[in-house]
Amino acid sequence: EVVVNRIAAGEVIQRPANALKEMIENSLDAGATNIQVTVKQGGLKMLQIQDNGCGIRKEDMQIVCERFTTSKLRQFEDLNSINTYGFRGEALASISHVAHVTITTRTASSKCAFRGLYSDGELKEPVKPCAGNVGTQICAEDLFYNITTRRKALRSPAEEHAKVVDVVSKYSIHNNKVGFTLKKQGESMADVRTPPDSTHVDNIRAIYGVAVSRELIEVDHEDKNLGFSVTALVSNANYSVKKSTFLLFINHRLVDSSSLRKALETVYQAYLPKGSHPFIYMSLEIAPQNIDVNVHPTKHEVHFLHEDAITSSIQTAVEAKLLGSNS
Ligand code: ADP
Ligand code: MG
Repeated sequence: EVVVNRIAAGEVIQRPANALKEMIENSLDAGATNIQVTVKQGGLKMLQIQDNGCGIRKEDMQIVCERFTTSKLRQFEDLNSINTYGFRGEALASISHVAHVTITTRTASSKCAFRGLYSDGELKEPVKPCAGNVGTQICAEDLFYNITTRRKALRSPAEEHAKVVDVVSKYSIHNNKVGFTLKKQGESMADVRTPPDSTHVDNIRAIYGVAVSRELIEVDHEDKNLGFSVTALVSNANYSVKKSTFLLFINHRLVDSSSLRKALETVYQAYLPKGSHPFIYMSLEIAPQNIDVNVHPTKHEVHFLHEDAITSSIQTAVEAKLLGSNS
């Protein structure tokens, strides 16, 4: 059974960046306003996240890495909720099947923190009291130590590090109220640093540079009939980037939609020179029951009801803004 679980977990957690995405979502769910990520070898040797969220109660530490254990009962029971295409109490369990996990956590009502060591979905020994601030630190070490094939498939720590930087960058831009830092273990310079309570534009400037941050236009669009609203910051008709940059959050979860991506690229084709691309940061909110719940958790790609109609409605809204900026 352990082996079956391990294989399943290896499918879900394919690389450090996948694990980190789930850990960041947990910290955000815990109400953190500060999230610090530290990695060694692109997260393969060590992936650590420290937050100042609500913490985990000592009595819950026993089960926190068991499959289908979640404290988010409301979402868990609502099968139509967006969370159902992600994980349902599976993230920490999966991570603990492919890494050594240490959780150090403290709630506001506890006098001290507690530490637990986990592997294969289980707490290895009774939790021990220790010093620590309110919040949670989760450290995953030696990722895929027990899945040789997976470990060999991920040979370059530099590539994994780049993916980790990408995930932290995107979450930090979207969650502008929350401060984020990403560092390599032992280095003083951060790879990502955004202060709490900044603006989306401030964070885009910090991460993607001054040039693009000056050329952004705001899109704000809602369609009650189709049941969605969108806010976006997109580069104008006179500016382009070499590498297509598309940050898409649907109901605050980082996802990809190739149909939406292509549709937006098409809008820009009329304005930009060949081979150049727009910068797009988009936050889309759709009624949860319209999200396709059958998408596998590893699939970044999502589908939603009325996809064609919503996509063309967004296209029209962006096009109108581009026309306005192109004078
Ligand atoms: P889910 O997020 O679907 O509930 P996870 O496996 O991601 O499942 O997490 C399991 C549980 O562990 C969560 O429901 C939550 O109670 C607890 N948890 C995980 N990370 C944190 C964190 N950073 N702060 C507080 N609680 C956490
Ligand atoms: Mg989770």
